[in-house]
Amino acid sequence: MIPVNEPLLGANAQKYVLDCLNTGWISSAGSYIRRFEEAFAAFVGVKHAVTTTSGTTALHLALAALGIGPGDEVIIPDLTMIAVPYAVLYTGARPIFLDVDPETFNIDPDRLRDFIRAWCRFDSGSKTLLHKRTGGAVRAVLPVHLYGHPCRMDEILDLARDNNLLVVEDAAEAHGALYHSGRSPRPLPAGSIGDAGCFSFYANKIITTGEGGMVVTDSDATAARCRRLKDLAHSPERRFLHTDLAYNYRMTNVQAAIGLAQVEEVDRFIALKRRMAEAYHQGLSGVDGLTLPLEKPWGRSVYWMYAVLVEESFGLSRENVTARLKENGVDTRTFFVPVHEQPVFRKDFLPGEDAFPVSVALSKKGFYLPSGLALTEEQISRVCQAVKSLR
Ligand SMILES: *Cc1c(COP(=O)(O)O)cnc(C)c1O
Repeated sequence: MIPVNEPLLGANAQKYVLDCLNTGWISSAGSYIRRFEEAFAAFVGVKHAVTTTSGTTALHLALAALGIGPGDEVIIPDLTMIAVPYAVLYTGARPIFLDVDPETFNIDPDRLRDFIRAWCRFDSGSKTLLHKRTGGAVRAVLPVHLYGHPCRMDEILDLARDNNLLVVEDAAEAHGALYHSGRSPRPLPAGSIGDAGCFSFYANKIITTGEGGMVVTDSDATAARCRRLKDLAHSPERRFLHTDLAYNYRMTNVQAAIGLAQVEEVDRFIALKRRMAEAYHQGLSGVDGLTLPLEKPWGRSVYWMYAVLVEESFGLSRENVTARLKENGVDTRTFFVPVHEQPVFRKDFLPGEDAFPVSVALSKKGFYLPSGLALTEEQISRVCQAVKSLR
């Protein structure tokens, strides 16, 4: 079976992990934490990087450090991984779901503008965007760079500035993705554009620490709050005295040792992902009824997953396609289930069942092909043959 994903672990990972074991530095103290954070901050082009235990806790930590809490609301895309609405709920805030862009699958700035116009009122006294229906304070927008393609950040930043919203990027699938902003001569790395950016290092992400995450930011204050909140918020005056509720989201030195070795290779990994996408494009372009992922001229995708859509004209349902591929030794994954369809959310989160036509359609049509870093050219052409043989 050609797997959907598998990590590549180089020789330095072994060397650094053995160093942790040999020296006994296996908890969250130890030099690899700092070295991994510094190397990752340099890679993303930001001032601060703070390790955490997962992408999920990175999202929670960033929102908490930015002061999001009960009574607040955070706007997220409807097509995303469940960790995104969970992280909002952990803070006591309420997530608001928006439909996505049919081309990039990311949060659609036009829907964001519509939502603000139709449902919100800007209170100039408190400089707060108020949600008229709930009375909540809309405090932040959380764009997710899905499957490695960047969001339309300039429009999101403009709306955020005009409405006093914080911007927290979820770059868990987009290490090294670039956005060509109209405001900067150089393309901006995903995660470096908003008030904070969050990454995951789960084993199937572009770089991995097994489990792990990172919050990045240029703000000294936000980074300091992240460091305090992820380590139980010991008071500066006296250890074991605590004035705030906080968390233990500390990564271990062993994980950071793997992470450092992975950052050293990240440019090669991104090149591998892009070469994989190129090979799939060549092998699959012209297959009727199959929509291939695109890369907008204003962005660089890192193709975390090679995500395709099965259109009606393909002649087989998506379920049929993925089942038949599996019989032919090709493993796949379907797209995320839209957040508004998740049974875990109460009905009162919904603006209406028909408010998400794009995310509903994408989640029915979409799946991803094997996209691991260890995939060979030969495996890619076998996958392409298997797909073509279905028609
Ligand atoms: C993987 C992922 C997360 C969560 O990361 P974990 O490390 O698995 O907690 C969050 N958001 C997105 C978009 C992801 O793909």
